[in-house]
Amino acid sequence: MTPLLQLRDVARSYVTRNNLFGQARPVRAVDGISLTVNAGETLGIVGESGSGKSTLGRMALGLELPDEGTVTFDDAPMPAPGSAAWRTLRRQMQMVFQDPLGALDRRLPVLEQIIEPLVIHGIDGDQRSAGLAALASVGLSAAQGARHPHELSGGQRQRVVIARALITSPRLLVCDEPVSALDVSIQAQVVNLLIDLQAERGLGMVFISHDLRVVRQISNRVAVMYLGRVVEEAAADDLFRAPQHPYTRALVSAAPSPGPRRVERVILTGEPPNPAARPEGCAFHPRCPVATARCRTEAPAPARIAPGHTAACHLLTPAAKVAAR
Ligand code: SF4
Ligand code: MG
Repeated sequence: MTPLLQLRDVARSYVTRNNLFGQARPVRAVDGISLTVNAGETLGIVGESGSGKSTLGRMALGLELPDEGTVTFDDAPMPAPGSAAWRTLRRQMQMVFQDPLGALDRRLPVLEQIIEPLVIHGIDGDQRSAGLAALASVGLSAAQGARHPHELSGGQRQRVVIARALITSPRLLVCDEPVSALDVSIQAQVVNLLIDLQAERGLGMVFISHDLRVVRQISNRVAVMYLGRVVEEAAADDLFRAPQHPYTRALVSAAPSPGPRRVERVILTGEPPNPAARPEGCAFHPRCPVATARCRTEAPAPARIAPGHTAACHLLTPAAKVAAR
């Protein structure tokens, strides 16, 4: 099977000017990541703020090109943002962000906004019927479609954004913290809607969130990011049941989980990750409860630790495990 989306060794830096002396310096937001998304599969991306999740999401959509590495969609290189080839491809790749109010125009009824991508992409046919069908597919009525964004609740607005994203029948959907601004009770409804729509349409989905509970519910596979790198990737069940990387263990142990807790509680100490001050060696070492001297100087490479399960930690390489026996 050809992967829908593939990122190979992608890296992306920004220049910031926010240090004390106003000096420009490059910050590596994403630092050598390889990931694959297949049709019909949801890849969850978790990590704290500053881990590079959103930059990764924008590269997955071709909104930004990597400085290094390649992004391919259907095995073809991602075209430059704004180019004619990219605009054609955009029909097939849509996004849902955290803030639906910011994504919608306050002055227009939401049905008109749902139809907009059909107009932009010159997709003919009965656009109004297509818009009403899209509304219905996210559980909204025609009457709700006639309202303006501020006349709807936060959850309804996010449904509008989802309807608009799906009206061009995309094959890839990138969601960046799509439910983080919603009440917990509404979050579950929107997540369930995304799960249903993804399954019905066989979408490839990238679901970015700092909320492990939500990621666990929606993802088939999960990649855990820390300071621009993927530190662990596995099937969602494996990752949450038996996290291996010390950082994932800490995240999972701190998150509320259904059923008896199997992962021993790990308390993280030290500073939260700051992309402008990446520690040498393993970037997690200042907060890692099991760091060794080697971790301060040598960065661990991602290694396969079980079928379909990779992690980047010196203590988890096959050689380290043999030595520990
Ligand atoms: Fe901790 Fe070292 Fe593994 Fe990094 S490489 S996670 S510091 S043990
Ligand atoms: Mg973000």
